[in-house]
Amino acid sequence: VLYELQFSSAMESLMSTWPKLMKAVGASEKNFEYIDRKPDIPPDGSLAPETLKGHVQFKNIAFAYPKQPDTEVLKNVSLELKPGQITALVGPSGSGKSTIVSLLERFYQPRSGNIFLDQRRLVDYKDQYLHEKISVVPQEPLLFARSVQENIKYGKEDASDEEMYTAAKLANADDFILNLPRGYDTDAGEKGGQVSGGQKQRIAIARALIRKPQILVIDDATSSLDTESEHRVYSALRKELKNCTVLLITHRLSGVENADHIIFLREGEVAEEGNHEQLLAKHGFYAEFVKQQKTSIHRNTRDVTNSIQ
Ligand code: ATP
Repeated sequence: VLYELQFSSAMESLMSTWPKLMKAVGASEKNFEYIDRKPDIPPDGSLAPETLKGHVQFKNIAFAYPKQPDTEVLKNVSLELKPGQITALVGPSGSGKSTIVSLLERFYQPRSGNIFLDQRRLVDYKDQYLHEKISVVPQEPLLFARSVQENIKYGKEDASDEEMYTAAKLANADDFILNLPRGYDTDAGEKGGQVSGGQKQRIAIARALIRKPQILVIDDATSSLDTESEHRVYSALRKELKNCTVLLITHRLSGVENADHIIFLREGEVAEEGNHEQLLAKHGFYAEFVKQQKTSIHRNTRDVTNSIQ
């Protein structure tokens, strides 16, 4: 924890003095957790096309972390993320969901198989280009001890106030920010202690959206967004960022309900995929996941009701 705090304050002072460098090394979202992953970053490519559709394809991807080469974390994974669609990635803890995101961000190289972006190999793209086009909201976003405004604007160099407010509204963050003691000037850092987990997540979503990414990944595996915020964020995305490719990692049924396509990952393999109805009809892993979710929602509601009585 101490190390993490020291790390955050070091990041913070770097951020205030040297934001361009931070962006150049792509450190905005790659916080402590990622650094601990000892990335095996492939050499930089040269592709930086003017327009990008954001079509992603994983073809027969196998992967093991460099630290543990004998443990294959992904085995022959093939999947597709389409522009204008929200794809939900679900599956038990440890099934490889975050690893898929790390490969998409090109933190590591697959052991075998290829990842394609608009039909061209991901490895051939320029790092900085990918960083601009792919926005990732991590499971536990790192907010700096700066104002909410600065935290959102950090997503884009020279962002205007207008862009910042638009992003905050899209992320369903505007209302709660205006209710903070100093509105957009409120300190969002840990020390401020004014911002809840879900609110933090929404600020991080606004930070990601201000860049108008072509590919947006939201890792909400900790389910910090409340259901209503979640629905609002996704309906705003559908309206305002129609052609964006969205990948949502979630453990919750309410999150999956927002998706056009669902991929169920299990032990590093795509076990099932389709839409909600198709997957329910299979009576397989996904149907079991939904059943468990419903039981736990029912149990939680009953607990709350009992505690009220
Ligand atoms: P969760 O829902 O808990 O976030 P996940 O589905 O995202 O889990 P991953 O984080 O991708 O799963 O992890 C997949 C597997 O890879 C797990 O067995 C995990 O222990 C292992 N793993 C993750 N990061 C590393 C790492 N840096 N080095 C070695 N193994 C790792």
